[in-house]
Amino acid sequence: MFLSVFDVFKIGVGPSSSHTMGPMTAANRFLDLILSDEWPRPAGAHVTALKASLHGSLAYTGIGHGTGNAVIIGLMGEAPDKVDPDRMDEIIAEVERTGRVTPPGHPGYNFKPKDDLVYDKKTPLPGHANAMRLTALDRDGRVLLTQVYFSIGGGFVVTETELLAMQKNKKAASTQKVPYPFASAKEMLAMAASSGLSIAQMKRANEEAVMDRATLDAGLDRIWDAMSGCIDRGLKQDGRLPGGLNVRRRARSIHDKLQEEWRSNRQNPLLANDWLSVYAMAVNEENAAGGRVVTSPTNGAAGVVPATVRYYLHFHPEADQEGVRDYLLTAAAIGGIIKHNASISGAEVGCQGEVGSASAMAAAGLAAVMGGSPEQIENAAEIALEHHLGMTCDPIAGLVQVPCIERNALGAVKAVTAASLAMKGDGEHFVPLDACIETMRQTGNDMNEKYKETSLGGLAVNVVEC
Ligand code: SF4
Repeated sequence: MFLSVFDVFKIGVGPSSSHTMGPMTAANRFLDLILSDEWPRPAGAHVTALKASLHGSLAYTGIGHGTGNAVIIGLMGEAPDKVDPDRMDEIIAEVERTGRVTPPGHPGYNFKPKDDLVYDKKTPLPGHANAMRLTALDRDGRVLLTQVYFSIGGGFVVTETELLAMQKNKKAASTQKVPYPFASAKEMLAMAASSGLSIAQMKRANEEAVMDRATLDAGLDRIWDAMSGCIDRGLKQDGRLPGGLNVRRRARSIHDKLQEEWRSNRQNPLLANDWLSVYAMAVNEENAAGGRVVTSPTNGAAGVVPATVRYYLHFHPEADQEGVRDYLLTAAAIGGIIKHNASISGAEVGCQGEVGSASAMAAAGLAAVMGGSPEQIENAAEIALEHHLGMTCDPIAGLVQVPCIERNALGAVKAVTAASLAMKGDGEHFVPLDACIETMRQTGNDMNEKYKETSLGGLAVNVVEC
């Protein structure tokens, strides 16, 4: 099994990898399909109009997550990693005004969001909770082409056929030949023992099977730059987050207080926790505002990994750029194992799969740069994940704000604690990471749908919106 570090960490836009980036990517894929020869085009038929319908969790929480807007932007040919977040409102306004989408290389199609974009809560599509259907029609309203896409978490999008292939044979998810194809933590530890390499070195060797070292390092640096830029932007913003909940941004004011404390050498026994929390909150406030973020492994959980990297740079005097690269490679190795054997999608397994996975990845990355052995790193990931087991996904009003923003802060704190605990041991521990991941998968399967990104239970129904 091989999942590239650049599939785990993808630069995109907020607020949700599954509900914003995935649908935008699905729209991009549908545009490519329209131009391709992969469908039986009746002689003389021309696509003149498009329609989209959102199903399951995409329909229930799509408005709060900006799913409809993501589809519109995707149908305008904009991709999550390229679109300028500051131009998105303008693009949507243009489509609403003209009733047309005009992606580059296409003739332009009729698409009136009010009529042609449907939030269909009554018809879940079998296969996955995050489903959408895109349809192309000719001028007589005849359906020429229709395709269902599933947004399976972390910005990944698959068709029905691809999903079936993945479910039938998980290995179909990646056919890439790599020197260390570990699909579980047990295999990872065995390969580390037999090769004498660290987890980061094995992951690097796998990545370098498909790209040269300079490209890999430049890509890793770009990922960290994007994460770091997101923290910095988040720390400068004030005001209320969009969406109607009227949630106040807090990262800036907390940061101001921490800086003041730092300058005046005032004692703060929770200093590291406070800095970790403010970094994570800065990222997740940016995410909630639809800003530029990096999936880590999802948008909803995007604050944990950057916060712990920034904490490492801030509080560990030996920290350097090479350390950040090793951190990201190690974290991606753990994220890949979790995704392969369970899920990183809140709609599939609840928040244990999002913030829980992010915390496990961050704990592993931090243990790695603290000089941990592969066993200590696996232990760190396991501690962090174990203590997120059972955590539900219940965002109020379907917005990735409450509980998500603070939850990332706490996920980062747990990650650092888990890494520290693991570094105090020798790597021997009671619950293997694989058992913890399998427990998360089973718990997610048993979890009531109300708690899987539908906003039909939990905090989402017990807190009165103002
Ligand atoms: S509660 Fe967790 S899984 Fe659900 S949207 Fe928020 S961060 Fe994502």
